[in-house]
Amino acid sequence: MTISRILVIGGAGYVGSHFSFFAMNNGLDVTVLDNLSKGHKSALRCSQFVQADLLNYDNLLNHLSERRYDAIFHFAASCLVGESVQDPAQYYKNNVIAAFNMLEAMRVTGHDRLVFSSTCAVYGYPKKLPLYEDHPKDPISPYGRTKLTIEWMLEDYNIAYGIRSAQLRYFNAAGCEPDSGLGEDHRPETHLIPNVVRFALNLSDSLTIFGDDYPTRDGTCIRDYIHVMDLADAHLKACAKLDTIPMIRFNLGTGVGLSNLEVVDSVRRISGVNIAPGFGPRRPGDPAELVADASAAQKNLGWKPSRSNLDAIVTEVIKWFSSCPQGYPN
Ligand code: UDP
Repeated sequence: MTISRILVIGGAGYVGSHFSFFAMNNGLDVTVLDNLSKGHKSALRCSQFVQADLLNYDNLLNHLSERRYDAIFHFAASCLVGESVQDPAQYYKNNVIAAFNMLEAMRVTGHDRLVFSSTCAVYGYPKKLPLYEDHPKDPISPYGRTKLTIEWMLEDYNIAYGIRSAQLRYFNAAGCEPDSGLGEDHRPETHLIPNVVRFALNLSDSLTIFGDDYPTRDGTCIRDYIHVMDLADAHLKACAKLDTIPMIRFNLGTGVGLSNLEVVDSVRRISGVNIAPGFGPRRPGDPAELVADASAAQKNLGWKPSRSNLDAIVTEVIKWFSSCPQGYPN
């Protein structure tokens, strides 16, 4: 099936805006639907923007009744592990109830193709590394549980109602497109790479590495950083794959793990600033190591990350914060 008109839910956010940019560059007609609670107007890359909230079911139903999309890409979510432990209600509402509304509106209006942002947090503590898709799912945070719940909903909606879905389990999304005015701007910022870069550029007063006593090569956590534009590429390929397979689930990572101190070292080398982070206690809910076995996505989608090199990512993030020290203007 030719995909030409798509709806990107959460297209003002970090991954959603980079995906919209990628989709526009690939000639698609992109409508973004976002409530702008976390996203940024200046990150919009689309031919049409609809400000709406998935929690308003009637609104969503009206929109999907009036417009037909070849596929829907769902990025909108609350996505911080620590916050989800403090306030699970927000996560069940913003993630599970919002996704349920979306699925119901899709079902009632006959939209049957969805690409959904899931997460490696569905696995919980790894029993075996790298993590492959059939690894037991035992999420340790409300965030991971909400995403796994939605994966199950998608499975049931596929069997009963024929809604096709690609469920993509991201590892650590990173990098940006500074030359096109797109960056990473979470408020507050909790992610490692932007925090280290902001510290190096004197945009923040302190940098704490959470835990130096993990059973890893340098005592700090190990993560698998995947470039947002590589994620974007995988999304379009996964959408096309739904022509032949009604439901797919893939890890999206590089298969290479990098420690928190290796990230600090990369920022140190590239910025030329001799940053010295402090060390604090472990952050609750952080597994020592999360690395993807991403061979299934590579084999089945014909996808290969091409931009997920740490030094290149750090260079882009430095460029972004140098040009927009306060992030997006709005
Ligand atoms: N981290 C850190 N200091 C920070 C932010 C993150 O030490 O200011 C660590 C965090 O504990 C984890 C790794 O960096 O070990 C990646 O965290 P991030 O929040 O970027 O992504 P997550 O893996 O939680 O999705």
